[in-house]
Amino acid sequence: ARKGKTPEEVVRKYLQKVRNPPEEDCTICMEPLASPSGYKSAQGQPPVKPDLVGKLTKCGHIYHLHCLVAMYNNGNKDGSLQCPTCKTIYGVKTGTQPPGKMEYHIIPHSLPGHPDCRTIRIIYNIPPGIQGPEHPNPGKPFTARGFPRHCYLPDSEKGRKVLKLLLVAWDRRLIFTIGTSSTTGESDTVIWNEVHHKTEFGSNLTGHGFPDPNYLDNVLAELTAQGITEESLRD
Ligand code: NAD
Ligand code: ZN
Ligand code: ZN
Repeated sequence: ARKGKTPEEVVRKYLQKVRNPPEEDCTICMEPLASPSGYKSAQGQPPVKPDLVGKLTKCGHIYHLHCLVAMYNNGNKDGSLQCPTCKTIYGVKTGTQPPGKMEYHIIPHSLPGHPDCRTIRIIYNIPPGIQGPEHPNPGKPFTARGFPRHCYLPDSEKGRKVLKLLLVAWDRRLIFTIGTSSTTGESDTVIWNEVHHKTEFGSNLTGHGFPDPNYLDNVLAELTAQGITEESLRD
């Protein structure tokens, strides 16, 4: 969906002008920053002056404006930008998860490795449907295998924090995406995105079960990489 701003306007919002580019290469196009961008304009895209250079305001990494606009146009154009070098997120990153439901409840049993607390069970349900413009093959059907998918967290303070952040990730459409399953090889299907879930309760036959003493810290880091932190809970 268009947010009213052109891709160039979105990208410029996160940049400061650089008048004298340093003697370094742009890591998007690999051309020197002092030379024009090596990126060719895609057909039908309005041209961006190829010699303009900008510095991202939070992380300070420098690129050709044209290269950042090309990168933005390759994504889902949600008004956010992620620095390709250090992954700093500008704006609110959203994904392409298709419509569905996320529910959770407490079950009165403990997980291996978490003997002192009960368990949160999350249930994701996504039906098959038709791909939207943000998906790999717009207009084509997608499948949704193995739903409802059940996932588990310890009902501890840290586990409840992860749950809250996962609810934000769900709202931002970042838990699933449509693509090719690396497990089954099937394309145009709903797959996990970059936030790992534990789908086994009492065993660990798939490696997606408990015990896993690092799981909560790992998933917190994966959520941070999607721009979801404790700060996201305040707004
Ligand atoms: P995928 O195989 O492309 O993998 C994407 C990410 O999900 C990877 O990081 C991977 O490590 C992780 N992942 C893979 N299997 C997982 C599992 N069982 N539990 C938690 N994380 C897992 O993504 P996908 O196709 O969405 O995941 C495959 C899993 O989905 C299967 O193992 C199964 O649980 C479920 N599935 C079930 C059916 C079915 O008909 N019952 C069909 C397809 C997939
Ligand atoms: Zn460049
Ligand atoms: Zn950066």
